[in-house]
Amino acid sequence: MARFANAGRCAPTLSLNHNRSASPHVDSGYHLMELPTKVLIGQGVISKLGEFVKDSAGGQRVIVASGSNVVSKVRKAVESALPQEPIWVEVAEADTQSVDRVVAAAAGTGCIIGVGGGKSVDVGKLAAFRLHLPFYSVPTSASHDGISSPFASLRGLDRPYSVMAKPPVGILADIEIIASAPKRLLASGCGDLVSKLTAVKDWELAHKVTGEYYGGYSASLALMSANAVLSRSKTLARFGKEEVRDLVEALISTGVAAGIAGSSRPCSGSEHLFSHYLDMLAPESGLHGEKCGIGTIMMAKLHRIEWKRVRSALKNVGAPVAASQIGIDDSAVIEALTKASTIRPDRYTILSKKKLTRKSATDLARSTGVI
Ligand SMILES: [Zn+2]
Repeated sequence: MARFANAGRCAPTLSLNHNRSASPHVDSGYHLMELPTKVLIGQGVISKLGEFVKDSAGGQRVIVASGSNVVSKVRKAVESALPQEPIWVEVAEADTQSVDRVVAAAAGTGCIIGVGGGKSVDVGKLAAFRLHLPFYSVPTSASHDGISSPFASLRGLDRPYSVMAKPPVGILADIEIIASAPKRLLASGCGDLVSKLTAVKDWELAHKVTGEYYGGYSASLALMSANAVLSRSKTLARFGKEEVRDLVEALISTGVAAGIAGSSRPCSGSEHLFSHYLDMLAPESGLHGEKCGIGTIMMAKLHRIEWKRVRSALKNVGAPVAASQIGIDDSAVIEALTKASTIRPDRYTILSKKKLTRKSATDLARSTGVI
């Protein structure tokens, strides 16, 4: 796979971060926290976009990276909120070519705004990172925590998991727009939230086994977001404006937890490795949060924690709990369970410890109802 050649341009920033040290298991004694500066959340706040980005735009035009569906939905609202017509760059795929197109269009602009679901936000975030431009995240759905985190996933990188960039300078979350997104996307967001339960367990385990830095505060913050789903999944399942606001705030909070940790550790563990492995086996099947949710059920069982509670919370919000619901066959689940730990050997998780065989992976997937 092609390497994302410019990912290291901001070397001074990256070198401050402990998870980029030569050995990620060695605690260097310090790390950098990068957090979003401002968040504007509420109904109809899209009309305040111009004011929100004013300091960064500085009178210059801005770039808006967005998918075609989203463009048709919010173009008018975005354009009438900005003082000058923005440069629209359509993002069809979250890949390095899309990042290049945003970078090429960005000359003389003041900031980059990613409007949409995962792809536009990830592409905009990496383009802004390469150009040292401020990045604003304007989510139109709440399907995963990339809306606020310093991480981005792209195809065409040298690794099948997220890369570290910078968190958005600002997040503008219009609840009216997000609440009108398909319920499937919102349920997927719940899947990404419950996954913090096993991500934090994996982090604790790694700390014990390898001595890796563990941040109790950011771990607690991430767990709070998982509990926002686990403790009130039936109410959340209404996905009315109030529930969607809670969901968005919980997702923003997990991105902040990653910012405080200085790594994706509190947000991404064995369940994410499982999901990333499935991305390689069946790239078109299932949403990120859906795959992470299913992974969490199984990893929770491996950790001997409340996997049944995870499963019923996911069911309650309408998220899938079986691989067949997202078109993934049994053999892919088994392969992902046995091989997921190999895609990121530096990240010690319960999968590194258990070293599942085909037999134990099949037993795990069957006993949790995933296959
Ligand atoms: Zn995630």
